[in-house]
Amino acid sequence: MARDYSHYSLVIGRFQPLHKGHMDVIRKCAAESDHLTVGIGSAQYSHEPENPFTAGERYCMIDEALHDAEVDNYSIVPIEDLNRYSVWVSHVVSMCPPFSVVYSNNPFTRRLFVEAGYEVRASPMYDRAIYSGTEVRRRMVHGTDWESLVPPAVVEVIDSIDGVGRVREISQRDSAV
Ligand code: ATP
Ligand code: MG
Repeated sequence: MARDYSHYSLVIGRFQPLHKGHMDVIRKCAAESDHLTVGIGSAQYSHEPENPFTAGERYCMIDEALHDAEVDNYSIVPIEDLNRYSVWVSHVVSMCPPFSVVYSNNPFTRRLFVEAGYEVRASPMYDRAIYSGTEVRRRMVHGTDWESLVPPAVVEVIDSIDGVGRVREISQRDSAV
């Protein structure tokens, strides 16, 4: 008999980088699901100010932080952008384990999955003013405390690849050398 996938769910983010707001939502979604797929969106991008980390680096951040948080009912799937929105849901489905529920606050993502017949649930926001990828990257560039916004495992991954140096360098304008 085929497995019952009705309590399998999906959450998608760019995770540039994974922060404590993402962790809060992933932890809650994993707790109310049999299995949670964490989709790494815009997977093809890296080394850009808005998308500094590769899909592989983001994979390590998520996998190591979830291991530390003792969450074990998840898969991580990198998902490249497809700039053809009418078939985007099929593209996501083709890359992921089966799922029936999608957690998202993004109106666009919500609309596409609703039109495709999925159950879409809102994911509660955790102190959004501080916990956002944009704020983490801004603090890295300005040399202020970004570490407290992300799980310790993410600090380790970023330190191991000189992630802060990368974010600073790629956010500079051309220099006259
Ligand atoms: P960026 O500022 O780079 O866009 P982000 O913090 O918005 O980063 P994304 O990687 O774009 O994060 O992921 C988007 C999803 O992550 C959102 O749709 C939202 O559901 C979730 N999310 C982001 N921040 C929080 C937060 N503070 N609390 C709960 N969920 C969050
Ligand atoms: Mg965002």
